[in-house]
Amino acid sequence: MTLETSIEYVKGIGPEKAKLIKNVLGISTVEDFLNFYPIRYLDKNKVYKISQLQESNLEIQLKGKITQIQEIQTGKTKRLTAKFNDESGTMDLVWFQYSKWMKEQLPINKEIYIFGKINVFNKQFSMPHPEIEIEENKENDNRLKPIYPSSEKLTKRGLNQKFFQTILRNICKEIPSLIQENLPDYLIKSFKFLSRQHTYLNIHFPQNLEYFERANNRLKFEESFFFQLGYVLKKLHQKSQSFGNPFPIVGDYFTGFYENHLPFELTNAQKRVLKEIRLDMKKPVQMNRLLQGDVGSGKTMVALLTMLIAMDNGFQSCMMAPTEILAQQHYNGIKDLLRETNINVRLLTGSTKASERKIIHAELESGELSILVGTHAVLEDKVKFKNLGLAIIDEQHRFGVAQRAKLWAKNKIPPHILVMTATPIPRTLAMSFYSDLDVSVIDEMPVGRKPIITAHRREKDRVFVYNFCRDEIKKGRQVYFVYPLIEESETLDYKNLMEGLDQVMNSFSEYNVTMLHGRMKPDEKDAAMNYFASGKAEIMVATTVIEVGVNVPNASVMVIESSERFGLSQLHQLRGRVGRGAEQSYCILMTSDKLSTESRTRIKTMTETNDGFKISEVDMQLRGPGDILGTQQSGVVDFKRLDLVNDSAIIKSTKKTVEKILEADPLLSRAENQGIKNYYVRYYKGKNKWSKIS
Ligand code: ADP
Ligand code: MG
Repeated sequence: MTLETSIEYVKGIGPEKAKLIKNVLGISTVEDFLNFYPIRYLDKNKVYKISQLQESNLEIQLKGKITQIQEIQTGKTKRLTAKFNDESGTMDLVWFQYSKWMKEQLPINKEIYIFGKINVFNKQFSMPHPEIEIEENKENDNRLKPIYPSSEKLTKRGLNQKFFQTILRNICKEIPSLIQENLPDYLIKSFKFLSRQHTYLNIHFPQNLEYFERANNRLKFEESFFFQLGYVLKKLHQKSQSFGNPFPIVGDYFTGFYENHLPFELTNAQKRVLKEIRLDMKKPVQMNRLLQGDVGSGKTMVALLTMLIAMDNGFQSCMMAPTEILAQQHYNGIKDLLRETNINVRLLTGSTKASERKIIHAELESGELSILVGTHAVLEDKVKFKNLGLAIIDEQHRFGVAQRAKLWAKNKIPPHILVMTATPIPRTLAMSFYSDLDVSVIDEMPVGRKPIITAHRREKDRVFVYNFCRDEIKKGRQVYFVYPLIEESETLDYKNLMEGLDQVMNSFSEYNVTMLHGRMKPDEKDAAMNYFASGKAEIMVATTVIEVGVNVPNASVMVIESSERFGLSQLHQLRGRVGRGAEQSYCILMTSDKLSTESRTRIKTMTETNDGFKISEVDMQLRGPGDILGTQQSGVVDFKRLDLVNDSAIIKSTKKTVEKILEADPLLSRAENQGIKNYYVRYYKGKNKWSKIS
């Protein structure tokens, strides 16, 4: 038997069952079977008494005798029941599929162990289809019994737990010749791991719970270790491979702007991040950098300064945003900041007029246009650059991998890539999945910002909430009211939005109210935005189209209606629309009276912290890592044992271990690391799914 042996040849399986197992469980080799882990274990050393049974018992073992057998005819079907006694009481055993053979097999008045699930009906316990073992034949084995993931389809065809246990027992006998060590002695010793052979034996048939834990921990470590090893190796490799245009110069565009037009002093975090970017772009290697910074931390300025460096080196830049509003706003902001320079900036979105498009296309190809801001319209094939040197993507999680890849192809030597995200990714995730990326973090807010005060209010408080808003408006501030708009129930939501608008207009009849939602035409959206941004309207009623990026520093109150319907990162984004000026800002989360536990956790988290990282951690616990990374990337979190939420300690320690090993032995050429290398080459090489962000 080897790991590659087809299961067909394993004792007890045969071609027919092999086919079934392959179809239903995807198991085709001995190795697949070894990696088919139990979902839980039973302690067969424990024997219950009938008098101790409780409704909450799952699968249990009892010891006693069958005293009576009875056939019961109901309609066309026959059923078999038996009375089972131990010294403490009596219960029924039931077989719904009658067979004469079965009836003849039942050992009457013999000391037996029965084992199975407990049913409760009218406070009477019974056990359908028990496993029966005669005491004198009982295996002398006090290991825990594995329960494997199975299905009714398999059980019906004879592939029950007993079958799986027998097969795995047969395979486990061969472990000494099947399983090779893949970790060096020094690691096994320092982490007090079981050997790999004992790990497999104890994951299938644990000696006891402690051994199960040790086996399980080692499997988790292995998953995390080899995964991270892959990324670090790739990163080392990639660094020496993908060419980029070096930007050695910091010239007049940058310095001129920095010295004459910068409207504020950069925060230390902005300065540090900018330095990281500059050092990166100096090299003839493509930059692939993720810029994380909480909402309002000032990523746009960093982006602009980076684009000026590209210009100093004779290259064009493009900045891509996920929505028209956001692209427009970036464009307005950048245009405004650059107003006293002669730098040519243009905006390209889906609604850009043909005449303007023509100019853009021509200027891009001639090189006259230095900075292009836009939506994914910039990805179209017709958009050709003379020399694109830098691409900045704002709010990364909204773009698909394929879309981003298109940016690469816009220049012969791929442009440097800077991805900006305001949705901080939990540290453990970032550590495991972005380890081939360079990450810069703006962890400091511009001075003078006051933390936003967040409160939870219900429908009955509405009058107070409105009065509060009125007071703020009287002080010269502006207010947002946001309504959920979720695709599945768009029509209904739209109605809610319109009713909300009516309600706000009635209650605030002395003020100007404007509205923004996704069904409006781009120029209507612009008009609404401008009306609010210029201060002509005191109130904006909107859907989540304002979620990302919208920047009106004078707005100080954000009322989120039906906030229980929003996800945490969305709430955090929405809240980030206020608190952008020097004034104290407020976020009011309106909910209905009844809240699910999960909604309550979300609301509570929001009222307790403004820290995007903390919020993302809670979000990951609520939704799981796959959801956070988005469906496109969820494949990367396909671990069997490792749990990204609860195993962050393991992830951290493996990361350190991997770095230490590769630092000392980057090619894994030392004798002691051969086990690692062989295993990596066999199972992981070329399999990392998320190699580059763009
Ligand atoms: P985000 O990181 O969410 O994209 P922005 O770049 O939109 O944040 O910046 C938020 C606001 O903070 C803007 O009004 C911007 O002009 C302002 N800002 C950025 N950096 C600073 C700074 N160093 N000092 C003061 N205000 C700043
Ligand atoms: Mg932004």
